[in-house]
Amino acid sequence: MSRSPRTRPTSLVSFSERMAWVLLVRLLVIAMPVGAYWLLPSERTATWAEVVQPAAATALVAAATSWKRLPRRASITVLGFGLLVDGVYLGWVLHCLHGLLGPVPRIAVVYVLALTLLASFRTGVKVTLWHSIVLVLVFEFEQVGILPDTSPAAGPGHLRWHLLSLWVLVVTVAAFAAANERELRRRRYDSDLLRRFGLDAERCTTGTEVGSLLAVLGRDELLARRAAVLLVHEDGAGHGTVRATCVVTEPDGVREVRWSGWLPAGGALADALASRVPVLRSAHDDPALADVLPGAGRVVLVRATVPGSSTVVLVLEEPGGRHLRRLGAGGVPQRLVTTAEQATVQAASTVARTELVDRLRTAAATDGLTGVGNRRALDQALAAAVDDARNAGRNLSVLLLDLDHFKRLNDTHGHEAGDDALRAVGAVLRTELPAGAFAARYGGEEFCVVLPGVVDGAATAEALCRRVRDLDVPGPLTVSVGVASLPGDGVSARELLHAADTALYDAKRAGRDRVVAARHRDGSESRVGS
Ligand code: GH3
Ligand code: MG
Ligand code: MG
Repeated sequence: MSRSPRTRPTSLVSFSERMAWVLLVRLLVIAMPVGAYWLLPSERTATWAEVVQPAAATALVAAATSWKRLPRRASITVLGFGLLVDGVYLGWVLHCLHGLLGPVPRIAVVYVLALTLLASFRTGVKVTLWHSIVLVLVFEFEQVGILPDTSPAAGPGHLRWHLLSLWVLVVTVAAFAAANERELRRRRYDSDLLRRFGLDAERCTTGTEVGSLLAVLGRDELLARRAAVLLVHEDGAGHGTVRATCVVTEPDGVREVRWSGWLPAGGALADALASRVPVLRSAHDDPALADVLPGAGRVVLVRATVPGSSTVVLVLEEPGGRHLRRLGAGGVPQRLVTTAEQATVQAASTVARTELVDRLRTAAATDGLTGVGNRRALDQALAAAVDDARNAGRNLSVLLLDLDHFKRLNDTHGHEAGDDALRAVGAVLRTELPAGAFAARYGGEEFCVVLPGVVDGAATAEALCRRVRDLDVPGPLTVSVGVASLPGDGVSARELLHAADTALYDAKRAGRDRVVAARHRDGSESRVGS
């Protein structure tokens, strides 16, 4: 079964959306010194033109360097150039607006924090570094007289304090942003994982396939040393005898194991079956886990069930990966447990669906009274058996059975007794035919048996006659059987049934309670026995 393709992890906010926000913030920050110049006459240490003209030029560069049509890589490079220009502009307006004692240091804080949050924490750190370099240069230029000193009252202490507080702020915000983003990415990864698991599970047609998928998810995604999925067919309220189909991960695939036995109360599996929440236990004391995951130590067990279906138990041996195991983490990361629970619930509903389909398929092919196949199933099985036999050049025998004087049994002992007799004959056919044989109810008190690979079904027919004769039903019960074989008596299902029916009619005429083989086409006589 193919697995759903993994989608490429994308940013939480789209790239173009981030670029739009970055442009908006840059334009606001570029405009702020102009506003400060206008609102705060006391802070002016340059002319209006010396502030407005660089602001206009930087705004144009900002607009140009946020142009959306460029490919992603190119737009990141161009944006980097624009941010360098922003840094120089902020250095210049710092000089124009009373240096470190004016409003620009605060504008710079807004700028670097906004970029840290909107672009990325790496961009924020780089921009802060560039801003620091420009600031130191402006300060030094003012000290050595390359630029006129606009804030003689601000000394190196002011510069150090501004840089220190700026870096503390940026690093703190960057760390929080990174932690939040990592958590959001993990959640997005988990929901994508569950979506892919759901899509793959949808294609499964058996519970074991679903189990394999879940076990592989436990090993590969929940980082368990080994993972096993148990489909527990009988839950005995958490303890007692259970039957389970188990799928266990191996380095090169999965292994299937059947387990049945007694689960002691208080064992890991018994506890998990009785618990609504995941169980973290040692596997040592559990007979099922000892067989399924030999040598396992600490395991997490997660179970889910849909009423009327098998219970799914996911067993993860030391989930969380080697990294966590080395750290000796006492618990298991909540995120892994939550994902395990959600995947197990999905698996349980898929298992319920496959079991329901199986039950419906069986019910649609089974005769309700006798438990053998119905006429529809017979038509399909016989056609398939004839095709197989002809393709492989093998023999095939068909028996038609008709209970003798059955009307009389009904009339004498009632229809319920008749039904019981039919049930008893059904049980004989279900339990006493050779492997590979198929039995179905052909009509009211008539049955058909298909015997692939059998040259002459007379011996099987004779044995069935004896078993029916010995049944414990009110009154005598016997059966007449017509036998036809491929290829001698026919080469199609229709021809074989016709030949067997003719032989059955002969058996009735010859006195009932006997087996008659069809007249072979080569003209040999039918054999009569009883
Ligand atoms: P023969 O030996 O010639 O086959 O005689 P017969 O009485 O078995 O044959 P007939 O065809 O005359 O009667 C078949 C009877 O089987 C009639 C019908 O009431 C009975 N029968 C068919 N289906 C059922 C069923 O589901 N339950 C019961 N109790 N009787 C059934
Ligand atoms: Mg009949
Ligand atoms: Mg009959």
